[in-house]
Amino acid sequence: MATKFDELTGFATKELFYENVKNAVLANPLERHCIVYFDIDNFKIFNDLFGYENGDSLLKESARLIKELNGNKNLCSRITSDWFAFYIPERKFSETALTDISDSLNKIFKESLMPIVIHFGVYSFNSLDEKVSILAGRAKRALKSIKGFPSKLVAYYDNKFMETERQEQHVARVFDTALKNGEFRIFLQPQVSAKKGLLGAEVLARWITPQGELISPDKFIGTLEKTGLISKLDNNIWEQAAALLKYWEGTEKENLYLSINISVKDFNNLDVYQVLTDIVKKYNIPPKKLRLEITESVLMNDVKKVLEVIKKLRKAGFYIEIDDFGKGYSSLSMLKDIEVDLLKIDMDFLRKTENELKSSIILESIISMTRKLGLEVLTEGVETEAQIDFLKMVGCDLFQGYYYAKPMAVADFSRKFFSPNLHSLQGEEKTVV
Ligand code: C2E
Ligand code: MG
Ligand code: MG
Repeated sequence: MATKFDELTGFATKELFYENVKNAVLANPLERHCIVYFDIDNFKIFNDLFGYENGDSLLKESARLIKELNGNKNLCSRITSDWFAFYIPERKFSETALTDISDSLNKIFKESLMPIVIHFGVYSFNSLDEKVSILAGRAKRALKSIKGFPSKLVAYYDNKFMETERQEQHVARVFDTALKNGEFRIFLQPQVSAKKGLLGAEVLARWITPQGELISPDKFIGTLEKTGLISKLDNNIWEQAAALLKYWEGTEKENLYLSINISVKDFNNLDVYQVLTDIVKKYNIPPKKLRLEITESVLMNDVKKVLEVIKKLRKAGFYIEIDDFGKGYSSLSMLKDIEVDLLKIDMDFLRKTENELKSSIILESIISMTRKLGLEVLTEGVETEAQIDFLKMVGCDLFQGYYYAKPMAVADFSRKFFSPNLHSLQGEEKTVV
């Protein structure tokens, strides 16, 4: 017969835990209740570095502290490996107690071994309107939302969290139909050389619903990335971009290029090389006109495979850009391993800092280093003339940002930049019709 308790911690198995929580809730109908999930960041690394004995002692110590908090090992479970769940009546719950657990673990392990980062996910409720496993799943998803953020100790599955999940489910449910109905359209944002004027544009997806609502990427890209659907969207957007380049042939726009975004997930889901070479063949356009924006986070996963694909694409004539440089885990040293043509620096990460002087020193250094490496450099997110003047002074000639124009529908782009009387690229508000 399978044992009902975990050997290492003495805690209930998952099934027994669910059963015990159900009984505890039913026995106290007037209380509010909490299910709390707990997880240790980088537990695998801890195990690899310090061995299983130390790993076991970290788990036992965690279990001891959890048990101390809720007082009943039958209402605690080690769900798997370093994932724990426990029940606690809401009146006994406090964030301070969770901070104490974090402090206690660090007191024991930080000095002798390494700092311990833990996270909690909390779901509080007043009745069993769903199975306990489903309620526990909410606490777990709240926890997952802060994994990878060392400074965040607790996340709550509350109404806001539930609403976000609902929206994500909605996106995932209607996506295929929306894509089939052509609801995802390309918008263009100009890329400009201070010396030469308009050179091309970045292609940005917009979702236009049948009701005419315009939804911006931050409402759907994340969900599509989570579910893997992003690759279907990207394939479609890339094709729209190629079709537009073809359409521009023989017109005054034929010298413009378009930059498309490639998601980290695309490298897992698609044969990116095959798809892109097929697209340029199908539309019979030169690959160098379809520029590829790859975020630096791509280079954090499976670097070798991605570098190989990028190299092949570059050899096939595509122009490669590193997007959002500086926004994530910028690694300057990465630039020596990757062959790219252009670095897009994100202004946004500097805007958020308080110290303008430091920001400008950082920008200046990145630009000068990039140019020494023989790469082109473009700053995106430029909003003011002063920013452009400074960037020009420190050697950047290529720009994208609201200063020139916000992303706009293709027809608006043509009207704005190619109508006989509207050639100005300065100050969108002044020229917009
Ligand atoms: P990104 O590729 O870094 O695109 C630039 C984003 O910065 C755009 O937001 C643009 O509207 C915004 N931006 C440009 N200039 C300024 C400025 O001066 N000030 C400020 N505050 N913002 C500026 P958008 O269009 O909302 O796109 C957000 C992100 O969504 C993109 O960031 C890109 O990562 C992703 N995305 C958009 N379309 C696609 C797509 O077709 N495929 C994939 N995989 N990702 C896409
Ligand atoms: Mg981009
Ligand atoms: Mg960017």
